[in-house]
Amino acid sequence: MKNKYVIGVDLGGTNIKCGIVTEDGEIVKKVSVKTLAKKGPETVIEQMKKGIKHLLENETKKIKGIGVGAPGIVKPKKGSVENPPNLPGWGKVHLGNILEQEFNYPVFLENDANAAAIGEMIFGAGKEIRSFIFVTLGTGVGGGIIHRKKLIRGDSGAAGEIGHVSIDYKGRKCNCGSRGCIEAYIGNAHLVDRAKRSLRYHPESKLHRIIAENNGYLSPRLINEAAKQKDGFALNFIRESGKLLGYALASTINVLDIPTIIIGGGTAGFGKPLFDSVKEGAVDRVLKSLKPKVNILPAQLKNDAGIKGASALVFYNLKKKSK
Ligand SMILES: [Zn+2]
Repeated sequence: MKNKYVIGVDLGGTNIKCGIVTEDGEIVKKVSVKTLAKKGPETVIEQMKKGIKHLLENETKKIKGIGVGAPGIVKPKKGSVENPPNLPGWGKVHLGNILEQEFNYPVFLENDANAAAIGEMIFGAGKEIRSFIFVTLGTGVGGGIIHRKKLIRGDSGAAGEIGHVSIDYKGRKCNCGSRGCIEAYIGNAHLVDRAKRSLRYHPESKLHRIIAENNGYLSPRLINEAAKQKDGFALNFIRESGKLLGYALASTINVLDIPTIIIGGGTAGFGKPLFDSVKEGAVDRVLKSLKPKVNILPAQLKNDAGIKGASALVFYNLKKKSK
């Protein structure tokens, strides 16, 4: 019997996606509203309320709580969101209180990458795994660390920033101000920039035609398209990117002694060539005792991972409380 329902809210820079989710991770009802980020926090919060109200309209199911995955620094205990990137003018907002007062349900907040890690633990590839490192590949490279079925948050909630593990102290400049961060190699814009630079030396690549057909535009998806057409350059580029990620993950695996990695996000769509090379890179660089244990798995929550991750926060926290 699917008798437990919660609401998951994925607060993104463009859209706010809300859903009613069962304890098996099935979305039974879904609503998407525009974030209207440029209009500032009051408008965004109104939009959020609108989305949730829409979900609850004529709803007879008993809702156990609301989970919210938000960008930026999230303090779950205080229920606050601080300086989320892509949401101008926020500073610090006590989102938890605001939503609790409006809807009278318990509200659980978490950073979106951490929420996605919890989502994989509760509903996805991490269900049967005690400890794993979750990595999400997209505009940025985010992460979350699950140790013995618990999220490691660190002192201020900033743990798991795998994107800023450096693979080269003289390397490419990262948005964070440091150099050589893995995000500065495989974050979407950086990935495309690296591909375009290398393409100059590969006039034979099908990507030249693909870029021309797309008015000079290149994206990870188009690189993947070329790789699927057996373009040697595109395939090698994906393999190289995977190896770089593997090197960054090797440092994380060595530090944490957690050899299982779950990879999600848009760029994970590169599939087998990426996953094989991530494993190769990681196995090559981890300590000897860890080499046979390295395990690289694709995330299982794909579409609506944001809603599912956010909803998983409710199940995760209620379970913790009942212990
Ligand atoms: Zn960085």
